[in-house]
Amino acid sequence: MSPIKLSGRLLSRLEFAFVRYVYWHFNKPVYVILLGGPGAGKGTLATQLAPKLGLAHISTGNLFRREISRHSALGKKIEPILKSGGLVPDEITIAVVARELARFANRRGAVLDGFPRTVNQALLLERLLDSWSQEVCFVFFLDVETGDLIVRLAGRRTCSNKACGLTYHMDFNPPKKNGVCDKCGSALYQREDDREDVVLARIENFNGTNEPMLRFYKQRGRLFTIKSSNRDGKDSVLTRVLAVMFRNWQA
Ligand SMILES: [Zn+2]
Repeated sequence: MSPIKLSGRLLSRLEFAFVRYVYWHFNKPVYVILLGGPGAGKGTLATQLAPKLGLAHISTGNLFRREISRHSALGKKIEPILKSGGLVPDEITIAVVARELARFANRRGAVLDGFPRTVNQALLLERLLDSWSQEVCFVFFLDVETGDLIVRLAGRRTCSNKACGLTYHMDFNPPKKNGVCDKCGSALYQREDDREDVVLARIENFNGTNEPMLRFYKQRGRLFTIKSSNRDGKDSVLTRVLAVMFRNWQA
C-alpha cells in the first residue's frame, strides 16, 4: 500500500479511507472500549486511535490521578485504593466518567481506556449511554500473556504532568530524550502501581473480572479480540484495530 501524507504522519490507504469515512458519514458519537490486563497496551492504543478518529481519550487512571493531584474529596477516597492495587468503587468511577463524557469537547465520542472494568460498571455505562440514546460501538480485548505483561510494566514510565499522562517503555517505546516526555517536556517516573508487588495484585484483579466482561460484550456482538505479544511491531495493534473497525462499521 502506498502511503498518503497527512498532517506530518504517514497513513496507509486503509487508514485514510477509514478516517475520511468516520468524518463524513457518521454523525453519531462513537464509543470504543479497550479491555486488557495492566500493560496490555490500552493507553498506547488509545493515544494513537483517539486523535485519528477525532474522539476523546478517556482514561479512568488519568482521571483518578487528576483528582488525587487536586486533593479533591474524590481524590482522597481514591488515593489509598490505587496505592494498594485495589479497584475504585463503581459509583465513584461512573460519576467521574459521566462528567467527562458529558463535556461539550467530547461530544464526538470517546475511546475508553481502563473502564468499564466490571460487569456492573458495563451495565452502568450501558444505562448512561442509553439515556443519551447512544451505545458502545466496539469493544477490543487486547489479549497478552502474563509474562509479557510483567516485562512491559517493569519498563513502563509515565509523564509526571497529570494533564498529559502519556506512557513510554524504556525498550519498546522510549522517549526521544531519556527521562523526558516528548509531548510536554515533563519528567517521566515509574508509577507506584507499576512496581512488581502491586503489579501481581493488579493482574489477579484483572483476571477475576475480565471473563464475565468478555461474555457481556460478546453477547451484545461488540467484542473483538486482538492478540499481541512483545515480539510484535510497534503499530501492529493499531493497524489491526483500524482494519476490524473498517470491516465491521455499521452506519
Ligand atoms: Zn507529558
